[in-house]
Amino acid sequence: MKAIVVEKIGSFTIVDLPIPQPGPAEVLLKVEVTGLCRTDLKIIEVGHRDLVMPRVPGEEVVGTICAIGPDVEGLSEGQRMYVYPGTSCGHCPPCLAGAGNLCKGMRIMGFHRDGGFAEYVVAPVQSLIAVPANLTPDQAVFAEPLSCCLNAIELARLQANEAIGIWGGGPAGILLSRAAVAKGATPTIIEPDRRRREFSHALAEVPAEARYDVCIVAVGAMEAYRQAVRHLKPRGRLVVFSGLPKDDFALPCDFNQLHYLEQTIVGAYGCSYRHGEEALALLAAGSVRVDDMVSHRLPLWELKEALALVANKISIKVLLYP
Ligand SMILES: [Zn+2]
Repeated sequence: MKAIVVEKIGSFTIVDLPIPQPGPAEVLLKVEVTGLCRTDLKIIEVGHRDLVMPRVPGEEVVGTICAIGPDVEGLSEGQRMYVYPGTSCGHCPPCLAGAGNLCKGMRIMGFHRDGGFAEYVVAPVQSLIAVPANLTPDQAVFAEPLSCCLNAIELARLQANEAIGIWGGGPAGILLSRAAVAKGATPTIIEPDRRRREFSHALAEVPAEARYDVCIVAVGAMEAYRQAVRHLKPRGRLVVFSGLPKDDFALPCDFNQLHYLEQTIVGAYGCSYRHGEEALALLAAGSVRVDDMVSHRLPLWELKEALALVANKISIKVLLYP
């Protein structure tokens, strides 16, 4: 099979690999569509904390079952599946608390094991979620980025009728905003880039007087965090959703403000299996719409061109087909 492989940071190659065989508790999926996100750009260009090489990247995958491991029951060939990209142990304290993404044994598809930038991918049965019949593969593949947004919104304890400020009008910012609307909240996106602003109906800058119950930073820029922390209401929650460059991650923060206004700063990274189920349910119900977010559809083998679209912020969402 053809696959994209990252062997060293800074580049990737298109190679011919044997079709992997599913082991116990695994299935083989024929990849229908895989989503490209900024994390893939980061993995290839500068590496990632969780990346083990050589690796086939790709953590947003929808495919159909084409082979089933020896002891697997209840699944059949041809079923369309979304793959929750993580596998966790299931019995440690974070797992039992519903935060499988914090499991010390967490293994992520596209990071620790091979992902969907290939014609076929092996997936553990515990990671599969059946795609509802009324969703296309292109819609269902949004379950991964949407899951990460749902995790962030959950950690923010966002309530209906609250105001939420979202820094960054890229795909994550747009999904955060639509998920917030689905929860009955009122989002405002702040995005300096004019093209992105047109699509996401964002403000160029945060109004001086604006205060939000929840601020989520979905852009890897310190300036965004600097602003977000200043625009929290009393009892407001700031979500650290986007990571920052290794040389610019420390922010002098007014802890007296947090003290007197009883504010909270909370981190959010990835998602758990149950967020995948919730994301697919929201997509299937039409509560979060994504069709208009697909700006480019390309063959997987044009990954170089696709990465340039992401790097230059020309695209909203790029979908790739092996
Ligand atoms: Zn665990």
